[in-house]
Amino acid sequence: MGKVIIIGAGGVATVAAVKVAKNMDVFGEIMIASRTRSKCDAIVKSIGNPHIRTAQVDADHVDELVKLFNEFKPDLVMNLALPYQDLTIMDACLQAGVNYLDTANYEPRDEAHFEYSWQWAYKKRFEAAGLTAILGCGFDPGVSGIYTAYAAKHHFDEIRYLDIVDCNAGNHHKAFATNFNPEINIREITQKGRYYLDGKWIQTGALEIHKALTYPNIGPRESYLMYHEELESLTKNFPTIKQARFWMTFGQEYLTHLRVIQDIGMARIDPIEYNGQKIVPLQFLKAVLPNPQDLGANYEGETSIGCRIRGLKDGKERTYYIYNNCSHRAAYEETGMQGVSYTTGVPAMIGARMFMLGLWHKPGVWNVEEFNPDPFMEELNKQGLPWHEVFNGDLEL
Ligand code: NDP
Repeated sequence: MGKVIIIGAGGVATVAAVKVAKNMDVFGEIMIASRTRSKCDAIVKSIGNPHIRTAQVDADHVDELVKLFNEFKPDLVMNLALPYQDLTIMDACLQAGVNYLDTANYEPRDEAHFEYSWQWAYKKRFEAAGLTAILGCGFDPGVSGIYTAYAAKHHFDEIRYLDIVDCNAGNHHKAFATNFNPEINIREITQKGRYYLDGKWIQTGALEIHKALTYPNIGPRESYLMYHEELESLTKNFPTIKQARFWMTFGQEYLTHLRVIQDIGMARIDPIEYNGQKIVPLQFLKAVLPNPQDLGANYEGETSIGCRIRGLKDGKERTYYIYNNCSHRAAYEETGMQGVSYTTGVPAMIGARMFMLGLWHKPGVWNVEEFNPDPFMEELNKQGLPWHEVFNGDLEL
């Protein structure tokens, strides 16, 4: 049994904490630490386990983190704060001798730029310290990489075409809201698109390429090609891939709001002068948008996220589609959070479980697809995110 510290107290952290508390066979002691301690206390109250400890920490400061780690002595930190904190938390892990897991790659605050180089640069130091860092262990990135690794291990000799398809067919009955941290979400969606083809990255306009794709139990939904961080690690770790793309669905209403937000300058991430103080428009917007944590109560419908893969097995071409559908209502009933927080928090807990059991334990810095996918896939079925496979169907792509 191991000690785990969860950093962050948002939607994803709440789901992960609920799930960690249901897996006490491997998690001996739990602490939730975040910028606002009252939010950690509220999570503990909702779980109803007074033995879970809480603490206040500003994860932008390595010294505060090291002090906390030295006091609590966790085996693993689950970084479920924001991507801005990835490097400070990794630095603190090295100083205090703690293993690391996150769900999103590091982003500098002043530029919406997605790449693993900053975190991969820690590989030798984690290796030398005998510590494991597990990167990108949510759904996408996360399960999308594990599905790919599972397909490569069991169903293909060569994966050639990979399309990750992410549909949220839920309705939260708000005019506009994001399903996870609005600042991080809008930075991601408004950047230029990019996909991998024959060893090169092809850039597109933001949400320029789109087509209707059919999702199981949902039907056709307009799906937009975007850049997503796991494309970088998957094309590196599975070099037979010729083409890798990522698609996400958006409704017309959502896109109209997004366009207006951009047109009026509210998506800007550079500080502006307002009434004698500096504010970042996107951060101000976050403060007035609905909190993703409050969407669950009226959320209907489901998400469907999967990988559509084409490649070779025994010299013959094969297609393969593996996916999970997650009901917002069921997620809410179990954890008090909507499906997007659920599909991220559950894999984070499973990754931590894999680590505690010694199944995903290797010094260095790794993306999830570099570990054995089999025990993780088994847990997905047990922990609320069952998966389904379709062989040789029409991938539409
Ligand atoms: P939220 O904004 O709901 O929660 C973030 C939490 O981190 C808040 O509790 C916040 O504190 C805390 N936090 C922020 N800055 C600091 C800091 N400096 N020190 C300590 N705590 C801090 O985000 P979500 O729960 O929606 O998302 C969490 C993470 O999950 C994000 O990194 C997101 O990118 C990632 N994600 C990954 C997905 C995947 O599939 N891989 C999908 C969805 C999200 P406070 O409450 O005080 O603001």
